[in-house]
Amino acid sequence: MPEVVLERGAAAYEQARRDAVWNGRTPHRYPDVIVQAQTSEDVITAVGLAARKDLRIGVRSGGHSWAGNHLRDGGMLLDVSRLDQLEVDPDAMTAVVGPGFKGIAGALQPYGLFFPGGHDLDVGVGGYLLQGGFGWNGRVHGPACMSVEAIDVVTGDGELVHADEHHHSDLLWAARGSGPGFFGVVVAFHLRLYQAPKHIASSLLRFPFEIAEDVFRWVQEVTPTLAREVELSLFVHRNENGEPEITLTAPALVDSATEAAEALAFVSECPLLANALEIVPNSEVSLSDLYAGVAGFYPTGARYAVDNMWTHARASELLPGIRKIAETLPPYPSAMMWNHWGGDASSRPPMAFSVEDETYLAVYGVWNDPADDERYATWPEERMREMAHLSTGIQLADENLGRRPARFVSDENLARLDEIRARYDPAGRFHSWMASTK
Ligand SMILES: Cc1cc2nc3c(=O)[nH]c(=O)nc-3n(C[C@H](O)[C@H](O)[C@H](O)COP(=O)(O)OP(=O)(O)OC[C@H]3O[C@@H](n4cnc5c(N)ncnc54)[C@H](O)[C@@H]3O)c2cc1C
Repeated sequence: MPEVVLERGAAAYEQARRDAVWNGRTPHRYPDVIVQAQTSEDVITAVGLAARKDLRIGVRSGGHSWAGNHLRDGGMLLDVSRLDQLEVDPDAMTAVVGPGFKGIAGALQPYGLFFPGGHDLDVGVGGYLLQGGFGWNGRVHGPACMSVEAIDVVTGDGELVHADEHHHSDLLWAARGSGPGFFGVVVAFHLRLYQAPKHIASSLLRFPFEIAEDVFRWVQEVTPTLAREVELSLFVHRNENGEPEITLTAPALVDSATEAAEALAFVSECPLLANALEIVPNSEVSLSDLYAGVAGFYPTGARYAVDNMWTHARASELLPGIRKIAETLPPYPSAMMWNHWGGDASSRPPMAFSVEDETYLAVYGVWNDPADDERYATWPEERMREMAHLSTGIQLADENLGRRPARFVSDENLARLDEIRARYDPAGRFHSWMASTK
């Protein structure tokens, strides 16, 4: 089937515009034309059309950016979600994947192989890999963009180029971490794969919010000792009675039950167990179970507002802000996520991705009624502004740059991105980060 081109005013335009953004709160931004590409050739044709008509392009893969960065006023929305091929070479332990592919970690299971794909089955690899990518066993493999060995890109002049460490290496450098500021259309990612973990286990603890200080202090004490295969998160959310609670989840993707027991021993040794509302010390689970657990926090069709920060501040410094978050939390499943990352920045290859820290905090407002938009839409951003003095930057994964500017790459890398963009996209054919002057 050839590409579909929908001009503003066409019957199918509004549905296509809404479908392009996963967030139920579709931004009030209207491109002049929406192109739904089926193939790389369609992408080349679309970029040529945009050049002839002088349209700026926003690119959509899985549509899971909360902010809907690709949906802009005027110009072209180029939807590449149908480029969703996956070709695996089990012997070479590599894969070539289209930007619209979803659920890559699960899809590799039949091969006994693994990729640090996103925690949610529905996230498209396109936006996920470009922004960095914090996925399953991400503490072991690093941000997923580190495992992108090459990309096939349609550049602003409509040329399809292959970028790897030897050809167009600056384009690959930029694709590893520039996220919504990337200046080309990636039509395929060439990935390095890993052996799949042979055993997956998970622990869970639930606490009343009253003991938040003890919980956050204890977590900061144990996290430096954790195996990199353990991904410890705390969620502050409301329970069925509307009271704030803290749920700790700690999956461990390892190779044996013995390794899991060692990695998760810290849970049974927690000094706060007497106050816990629920205790699951070490339970064998599948990757599907992990995906299902995450999906519970992200109902499809709901309305979302999100913001985030990296930090290495101590619990005592963060607690006033966390208390305010708990007091003002919208109903379940709205949540604050505290994720222990503790990335080893010294082990990163050269790439645009350059901002990470010990702890990732994200604030997710989730609601259903449009009448609540005014009440909740600015909640995450307000809470993050109040804590900004403790932040060292943000993840582009949950970016809210259109409403709150924040540091997302180092100054040096931002300057280099500007320089590479000027060479590859001199006409400014592609939209960049929102609120950016570029
Ligand atoms: C429910 C949910 C769970 C999430 N879980 C995680 C998680 O576990 N880890 C994590 O790191 N992030 C997570 N995210 C954030 C998510 O990874 C990012 O929002 C990512 O951008 C989504 O990718 P996408 O292709 O679906 O998004 P899109 O919205 O399609 O893309 C985001 C932006 O990337 C650019 N872009 C996309 N595709 C291309 C392309 N082919 N060529 C050039 N530019 C392109 C565009 O500027 C676009 O606006 C989650 C988001 C949601 C909604």
